[in-house]
Amino acid sequence: MSDDRAAQIATALGEVRARLSRACVDAGREPAEVQLLPVTKYFPASDARILYSLGCRDFGESREQEASAKVRELDDLPGVRWHMIGSLQRNKARAVAGWAHTVHSVDSGRLVEALSKGAVAALSDGARTEPLRVLLQVSLDADPGRGGVPPAELPELARHTATAGGLALAGLMAVPPLGADPDAAFETLSGLHRELLHEHPDATTLSAGMTGDLESAVRHGSTCVRVGTALLGSRPITSD
Ligand SMILES: *Cc1c(COP(=O)(O)O)cnc(C)c1O
Repeated sequence: MSDDRAAQIATALGEVRARLSRACVDAGREPAEVQLLPVTKYFPASDARILYSLGCRDFGESREQEASAKVRELDDLPGVRWHMIGSLQRNKARAVAGWAHTVHSVDSGRLVEALSKGAVAALSDGARTEPLRVLLQVSLDADPGRGGVPPAELPELARHTATAGGLALAGLMAVPPLGADPDAAFETLSGLHRELLHEHPDATTLSAGMTGDLESAVRHGSTCVRVGTALLGSRPITSD
């Protein structure tokens, strides 16, 4: 690991932490209420190792193969929690259930079933000791191609998740539609989260906000901002 890269990441992390604290103060919230989730996709495991040395323990990844390689590479680091934040194929669910602490991108009953099977197997063979935390990804536009469950189908999917073996329904996640006003999108999301909490009071996590819109997300109740670019720089490919 190069000292230059370490210094660069340390500076960026300091800036992002300060920015997040300011966003919390401006929103009248406690900084401790909002978790910073560094997104390490497309960046080498050595960058995650630097972030770990700076106190980070949670990392977001969006592709199963890349993630499982990093999980293996960093398995000497105690206490790391890996988050799957990208769209997930059912045939990868079993692998993800072996390494993920939380999946942020669950949007169908079939995926719930596949993750449940994988988590039950991982619990019984000792690959995991706690249920897999599941966030339901909500679609805030009418485009089903971009992933996410339509709001009308959320209550049913939440009940399904809450009763599935090996899983714990932990909350919601969303990405604002391209070109949309993030304030409007996050306001809709926070309303859906309030409704979810009536029936599922433990589903307190709201995963919302990225490099470009974290202030808006914090104003609307985010408890977890997923930040890649502001910490590690721009990615070679940004489609996911
Ligand atoms: C890549 C990604 C992020 C990080 O986005 P930045 O704009 O780089 O901070 C956040 N959430 C999801 C779902 C992602 O895929």
